[in-house]
Amino acid sequence: MSTEPTTEHAPEAHTFKAEVQQVLHILAHSLYTDREIFLRELISNASDALNRIQFEMLTNREALDPEVELAIWVEADSEQRTVTIRDTGTGMTLDELVEHLGTIAQSSARAFVQQTKEGNKAAASEIIGQFGVGFYSVFMVADKVTVVSRSYRPGVEAAMWESTGGDSYVAGPAEREGRGTTVTLHLKEDAAEFASGWRIEQIVKKHSDFVAFPIYSGERQINQRKALWRRAPREVEADEYKNLYRQLTLDADEPLLHLHLSTDVPVDLHSVLFVPAKRERGLIERRIEGKIKLYSRKVLILDEVKELLPAYFRFIEGVVDSEDLPLNVSRESVQSSPVLQRIKKTLTGRLHRELNELADQKPEQFAAFWEEFGVFIKEGVATDYEGRADLLKLLRFHTTRGGDELVTLGQYKSRIVDGQSEIYYVLASSLEAARTSPHLDPLAARGIEVLLLTDLMDGFMLSGLRDYEGLKLRNIDEAELDLPGEVEAAASQVSDEQFARLAEQAAATLGDKVKEVRASKVLRDSPARLVSDDSMGREMQRIQQLLGREAEQSPRIMELNPSHGLVAALARRVEANADDPVVAAALEQLYDNALLIEGLHQNPATMVPRILKLLEAAARTG
Ligand code: ADP
Repeated sequence: MSTEPTTEHAPEAHTFKAEVQQVLHILAHSLYTDREIFLRELISNASDALNRIQFEMLTNREALDPEVELAIWVEADSEQRTVTIRDTGTGMTLDELVEHLGTIAQSSARAFVQQTKEGNKAAASEIIGQFGVGFYSVFMVADKVTVVSRSYRPGVEAAMWESTGGDSYVAGPAEREGRGTTVTLHLKEDAAEFASGWRIEQIVKKHSDFVAFPIYSGERQINQRKALWRRAPREVEADEYKNLYRQLTLDADEPLLHLHLSTDVPVDLHSVLFVPAKRERGLIERRIEGKIKLYSRKVLILDEVKELLPAYFRFIEGVVDSEDLPLNVSRESVQSSPVLQRIKKTLTGRLHRELNELADQKPEQFAAFWEEFGVFIKEGVATDYEGRADLLKLLRFHTTRGGDELVTLGQYKSRIVDGQSEIYYVLASSLEAARTSPHLDPLAARGIEVLLLTDLMDGFMLSGLRDYEGLKLRNIDEAELDLPGEVEAAASQVSDEQFARLAEQAAATLGDKVKEVRASKVLRDSPARLVSDDSMGREMQRIQQLLGREAEQSPRIMELNPSHGLVAALARRVEANADDPVVAAALEQLYDNALLIEGLHQNPATMVPRILKLLEAAARTG
């Protein structure tokens, strides 16, 4: 079939979409220090196209040139000041050239423009590519770019695309024999350095060394290509892992941890997994759920898989390669593949082991891990029944003992007092609030350590953390807490009768909000607290809050402390005047205070008018 351009098929001028124009303008006029990454972007596009054609041919579709080598060629010409990148990938039809190189997702463009406008000094390498503007990065170094491409679909003619990076480009039919794409960059004067063979080789080594297809410059292959994860771990240098991490994730920080697993039994499995240094990489991180690439027999099967690890490990990034996977594994069938289930089990087990080793051998590094990712481990405790024992050892808590020091369940257990058979915890909205919790009174009096749980995730974690090595976990706001050891009760400052009247008044004032008002047998320094006889209920309530739902307050029992000065004073005021408005306001405030400390108050601002009233009353008598 002829690919001669005919008059009615001459190249046509097109105008870039407004978003593209904006992006191009920024790229062409910004002084990026790391312009070299344009090459990484072009090689990555070529490699994607090669992956796609490899996949097409495996599934037996008809393709042009089925025998041609799958590879990338990069040539620099210093005299012409050009760089040419050629591949034997899928190629593009004329329509595809216009579609893919003339437009850009509006949301990506907007994010990109925003990012650069804010004067954010993020390096180009960090932002390009993450916004799907990879190809356009050529305009950082080139003032003219020509693309000639021929699709793998038999019987489709070749096509070209050319632009000087302004507002427009031309596209039309072209001549090209074989399948694939050639991108020619006419370099700007100040980018002449890239028209050099050794410079090209240097850039390829730095950014594209592990691309799965050979990259040739002249006759020579310049990338290492042998998949790092298929090499023996002891032969791989620390720097090579860092390089792989950078190439996979575009993260500028070094990873916190890497795990290299290479084994044949029980499955053929070669994998390198990374724990990043930070949970969030700022605004520009691509939000994806699965950060694992899945290979089989050197073919990239799936790019973003989340089924390879339990959901709580979704912060892990890396590569998994197994020969045992069927090549036709699709996104839908991936989950149900028994091989995949075995891989998942093996990887999860290794991650647990590795994290436990880190905790034992490098406590400082583990502390950094916990700070960023502890919340995911808590989620794992709630959701991974099989892995729970391993995960429990990783948990770290603030307690009433340590200042800022974090404590393991094992350390807690080693310090329990005589007769103690439970692990006590208090739930609160913050550490400060937890430390002032009235529920602590009886435990402090007995010298019993209490875990301070202040994370919203803690409520969820508790659904999976019922006991630890024979010790049950117990919320200290429970109504009938059976504590070991005896302490002398604090002396009441009011008569039983006086107290009964106050309690009656409190029940009337608070109405449905409380089940009952009664004298506390355990409070010492605090005037009041709310206790429950239904611990599941309030943990569920916390989970509701975690999910951002408005939670219904289930009524609890209010305990007042007859040995406390405030309670005694209120009791005497009731005796003098049953309808004293100060008493009603004070009782309501005591109730709200209790909710507030536990982080269960839905709307603290509503307390302000009442507090003002109480202040006014105090100021008048003072
Ligand atoms: P991204 O690669 O992030 O999708 P790009 O702007 O780099 O964004 O590329 C846009 C699209 O153009 C690609 O998704 C692909 O469909 C197509 N493309 C680019 N380069 C090639 C190539 N060498 N071979 C085939 N298709 C390509």
